[in-house]
Amino acid sequence: MSTYIFGHTTPDSDSIVGAISLSYLKNRLGEKCTPTRQGELNPETSWILNKFNTPSPELKTSYAGEDVYLVDFSDLAQAPQDIKEANILGIVDHHKLGDITTSAPLECWIRPVGCTNTIIKQMFDYHNIEIPKELASVMLCAILSDTVIFKSPTCTKEDTKAVKELAVIAGVEDFKGLGMEMFIVKSAVVGATMRELILRDFKDFNMGSVKIGVGQLEVVDLSVFDDMKAELLADMKTLKSEGERHSVLLLLTDIMKEGSQLLVVSDDESKIESAFNMKLEDAQVWLQDVMSRKKQIIPFLEKQF
Ligand code: MG
Ligand code: MG
Ligand code: MG
Repeated sequence: MSTYIFGHTTPDSDSIVGAISLSYLKNRLGEKCTPTRQGELNPETSWILNKFNTPSPELKTSYAGEDVYLVDFSDLAQAPQDIKEANILGIVDHHKLGDITTSAPLECWIRPVGCTNTIIKQMFDYHNIEIPKELASVMLCAILSDTVIFKSPTCTKEDTKAVKELAVIAGVEDFKGLGMEMFIVKSAVVGATMRELILRDFKDFNMGSVKIGVGQLEVVDLSVFDDMKAELLADMKTLKSEGERHSVLLLLTDIMKEGSQLLVVSDDESKIESAFNMKLEDAQVWLQDVMSRKKQIIPFLEKQF
């Protein structure tokens, strides 16, 4: 019997690579583990796995009766439907502590750093296990993605240290160049439907008695969305009512200008406005220096709701 390791719904590169890297470490430590994923790979993650010849984890959405480790989340809203029937052996994460509980003691590595893979790198060091070259390469990419090439306010010294050490193992000299290459892939929006774009990096949160969904798209040039905002807002409205959400927010983050255009559809716009101390115009507002959903959006919404 194998233990499954997986990240959050609508997986990002950290969730996918975290499942792969933690599985590798656990297997080396004699625990039979298999990386899985709860959803489709996004274009950035596909590019990373392709570039470094790393197979994708299998899709698996049901875990009743299974032993599992969770990476990159601890919120029920981002878990498989039957998570309460799974046996959670451990959590490795870098988000706020969520609402998942366990009936037995568990292994917990939860730290306020920029990326789960930074913590997993520290676990490799702790156990004195070598990281193979290809694995170091994909872990490096996951950290560059989550920290937006060190620009995100979530980035810590531990993340930059992990990147530098992984770059040596991976034989990557210009890791910032690699990061930019990756974000150019991530910026591609042509051919995608509005729904695909909104859901590309989307998370639901239970706040008080309401459900709020927050999506984020990180691009190198915000002008790609110039003719798209009305359509995005219209589909956000549909998504809001389909999922019985109180609000749907979409952060269009310009990683060069280091700020985000926030799009909002809500049952109560004034609550969102007071959360961020701003006024919406045409259901949107520019927030300079806001790049992190985890650190600059969610805590303020939680205070409001
Ligand atoms: Mg993530
Ligand atoms: Mg992460
Ligand atoms: Mg992210």
